[in-house]
Amino acid sequence: MKPKIYFIDVTNRDTVQASRISLSKLQKTMLNIYLGEMGIHQSEFAFPYTRHEQNYIKANLELKELGALGSLILEGWCRAIVSDVSGALPTGVRDFNLSISTSDQMIAKKFQGKLDRERVIKEMVEAVACARNGGAHTIGVNAEDASRTDLGYLIEFVQAAKEAGADRVRYCDTLGYDTPMGIYERVKTLAERVKVPLEQHCHNDLGMAVANSVAGAKGAIDGGVDAYINTSINGLGERAGQADLLSCILALRFGRDLDSYQIGDPINLSVVYKMANYASYAFGVPIPINQPGVGANAFAHEAGIHADGALKDRRNYELYDCELLGTCQLVDSALVEETPSRRVITTGEYSGLAGFKHVYEKLGISFPDNGAAEHVLELVRYANAHTQLPLVDDELRLIAKYPEQVRRILTVSP
Ligand SMILES: [Zn+2]
Repeated sequence: MKPKIYFIDVTNRDTVQASRISLSKLQKTMLNIYLGEMGIHQSEFAFPYTRHEQNYIKANLELKELGALGSLILEGWCRAIVSDVSGALPTGVRDFNLSISTSDQMIAKKFQGKLDRERVIKEMVEAVACARNGGAHTIGVNAEDASRTDLGYLIEFVQAAKEAGADRVRYCDTLGYDTPMGIYERVKTLAERVKVPLEQHCHNDLGMAVANSVAGAKGAIDGGVDAYINTSINGLGERAGQADLLSCILALRFGRDLDSYQIGDPINLSVVYKMANYASYAFGVPIPINQPGVGANAFAHEAGIHADGALKDRRNYELYDCELLGTCQLVDSALVEETPSRRVITTGEYSGLAGFKHVYEKLGISFPDNGAAEHVLELVRYANAHTQLPLVDDELRLIAKYPEQVRRILTVSP
């Protein structure tokens, strides 16, 4: 059987670590829920050894057990050192990506003599063994700065990771240095030489993150192994961002000559428009007008020839249908009382029972008695105090459905 392509979304790890943008633990949870609904393979959802992530991690693992996340795998990112892995195991995380730098630049200028090429492999092998002995389900090993790493050494590193028991190796184009042709050849060579599934982790410093991800995945598959593309929602991430999840899926589905490269999981694209808008809202970062699929102009036509052509047949100027990506009403029943009236009842940090119950009734949710309603209302107050943004319908639904997990998620105390 021909190998396939899977998606690992790293928004909740890589994007949230970027400068000037962040998510609350409740918002990270919502993204896991949407990724699960979409059918994405895995969410790199946390730094498991980081103390303020602990309650969020445990609660999300519970949500997974309760079926709220579908088949989404929740994987934690650690440095590939034993202390990080052993520190992460008590959280209950059992899927890992373990990261260490492999380029001479980083070995010389980051580790500054602490590690050399040989020691890098030794540290990684020990970290993999620690995760294995701790009962890990899956282990990915990340070669940070793989694109600037000597290919001979990279092959040696990937081979050592495979022999140590890693399930996959992540080819990190940490600086966005690669090109589609370059990454295709390098990943194909790694695949052929080592025969281990390969992840493509591409940044966008040269504007090629999506192209590189797709080309790298093609290289892995042509080399005979499964490919895993690392993505982020709306393409946000360190510096110029990383490979946009939706763009990668659209490219594989609608790009020239890519139809023989199959996505391994059934993807439900109807969640995408809502998820993109939620991420934009939660991060406080507008979606660019020209963003593929979800930008305001993605299906807009005005120029004479274009509008005329699109009206005659949308395929004249549209590669795929907007209906495919779903619709978005982050807040409808809860906030909008009655259009076109501007009267609204909302619920949040300082709400009382009457307004709260009114909002939930609009969502079709009722409570057996006032005690049960009070219990959820208190969580709504805390959730709003926590996110400092008006709560959207799906957040209100989550709070009512999983109050105990939400209580845990909202508990962030130093
Ligand atoms: Zn990255």
